Amino acid sequence: MLSHYDVAIIGYGPTGATLANLLGQHGLSVVVFEREADIYKLPRAVHFDDEVMRIFQSTGICEQLLKTVRINPGMRFVDSSGNLLMDWPRPPEVSSQGWNTSYRFHQPDLESILRKSVNELPNVHVHSGHSVLSVSTHSDHATLQVEDVDGQQLVSTNADFVIGCDGARSTIRALIGEPMQDFGFREKWLVVDVILTRPRPDLGDHSIQHCDAERSATYVRGPGNRRRWEIALKEWDMALDLSDAGTIWQLLSAWISPEDAELERNAVYEFRSRVAKTWSSGRLFLAGDAAHQMPPFMGQGMCAGIRDAANLAWKLAAHIKHGANQKLLDSYASERRSHAEQYVQMSMRLGGLINASKTQEALAAAFPQEDGSTRLESIAPPIGPGIGFDGDKHCGHLSKQLLLANSKMMDDQLGLSPGLIVESSNLLLNHSTFTGEIIDAQTEKAAQEYLAELGVVAVLVRPDRYIFGVATNSTELDNLITSWSETVS
Ligand SMILES: Cc1cc2nc3c(=O)[nH]c(=O)nc-3n(C[C@H](O)[C@H](O)[C@H](O)COP(=O)(O)OP(=O)(O)OC[C@H]3O[C@@H](n4cnc5c(N)ncnc54)[C@H](O)[C@@H]3O)c2cc1C
Repeated sequence: MLSHYDVAIIGYGPTGATLANLLGQHGLSVVVFEREADIYKLPRAVHFDDEVMRIFQSTGICEQLLKTVRINPGMRFVDSSGNLLMDWPRPPEVSSQGWNTSYRFHQPDLESILRKSVNELPNVHVHSGHSVLSVSTHSDHATLQVEDVDGQQLVSTNADFVIGCDGARSTIRALIGEPMQDFGFREKWLVVDVILTRPRPDLGDHSIQHCDAERSATYVRGPGNRRRWEIALKEWDMALDLSDAGTIWQLLSAWISPEDAELERNAVYEFRSRVAKTWSSGRLFLAGDAAHQMPPFMGQGMCAGIRDAANLAWKLAAHIKHGANQKLLDSYASERRSHAEQYVQMSMRLGGLINASKTQEALAAAFPQEDGSTRLESIAPPIGPGIGFDGDKHCGHLSKQLLLANSKMMDDQLGLSPGLIVESSNLLLNHSTFTGEIIDAQTEKAAQEYLAELGVVAVLVRPDRYIFGVATNSTELDNLITSWSETVS
């Protein structure tokens, strides 16, 4: 173990592993401490979206990941008699992000692929079976006290920054000392994964929300033969032995029996809706479940953590490698907090509706469409205020991922660099240099169309693919490039 790292990450779940990959690719020296010896085995995430797949694209894992996922056709909300109350279709076409809008997956598969990608980075050192006991911060570094869980040895190491990707019971959050803001959702649900032993096509490929005040439940069609039920628990269910196979089969009996499937794994969770009030303090940062927890009805908890990692990685790299100022680091919290909060609120709202006694009326009132149907549409809010070109309505929104003339996806061309999509590279001749990839609309038809769609001559895309700013003329372009240079160096 080195005695000093650029960044120490606590926790090697999906957030920590994504962050380790991205920081490692940026060339930083990174140490990861994970208390557990192995990947978490109990049932958790089953869904991620197109933006998150785009982040995985920048980690380089998509080829492997695509072999394990399933494209999700959507979610249907039905009443206790199976009547359709509301549809949340996910279009089969690839979205503006260059990927499908909704994927079903098995979280341990993803974590294993992410970890393999991190193993290939010589500057990232992972220590599983190591629990961080305390962190002290000093003027020029932080010191971590770590226990080797098996060897029962104490080690200490230093890092410039410490990122708590250490889950819902975060040690780093406790150190920062601010309580979480609690939005009030608190429900116990039983979560069961089964492996089908004979075909059950009647269960369908859509996810189903059974909206029933008596017993709400979610069905998820996983990849391969894996199927998931999440069942809301009532107070009186707590008297049951919810780890007992007989009890679980009884609760699943409306849909499936032991003749159809084997129980794979099960757990009881209390779903919460909380966001940390403070996401960073000096050398300490929070990311993933350490910073936010939400009920899983939209399948967005892990997604929010992956977005945290993408937002924070390039900012830390710019600060450590190029001396970018504190304002850039501060923008992590302000940009990510309000974004994550919107998903927390939406997930809660959906959870409340699934449990409502007059669900049909409640859904119709909550999600009315102009054509009279009740349809839910995915949200893609902009990030909160942080860095970027003042007063620009596109700033903080996700950029489109263009398909380039050489059939390459735009992000593969950009790598971890920022990108400038510009009407003509001639416009850049008299400007201060832009240190990133340039996509010239003179030779890229997709870029030409995108600029026309936004009504601008240039779009500056950050390394996390959000729009830093746009320019509508040469003077604005000059200001845009100058503003970017000042932000990252
Ligand atoms: C039933 C259920 C369904 C879900 N469905 C979805 C879904 O479909 N889509 C979605 O996006 N999200 C979903 N989620 C949420 C998702 O699973 C979590 O948001 C995600 O796993 C959090 O990842 P993380 O890396 O932030 O934290 P974790 O995966 O919790 O990792 C934190 C790690 O930190 C380690 N650690 C903690 N303290 C220390 C310490 N002091 N020292 C060393 N290591 C430490 C822990 O051992 C742990 O491995 C679901 C969750 C549940 C429970």
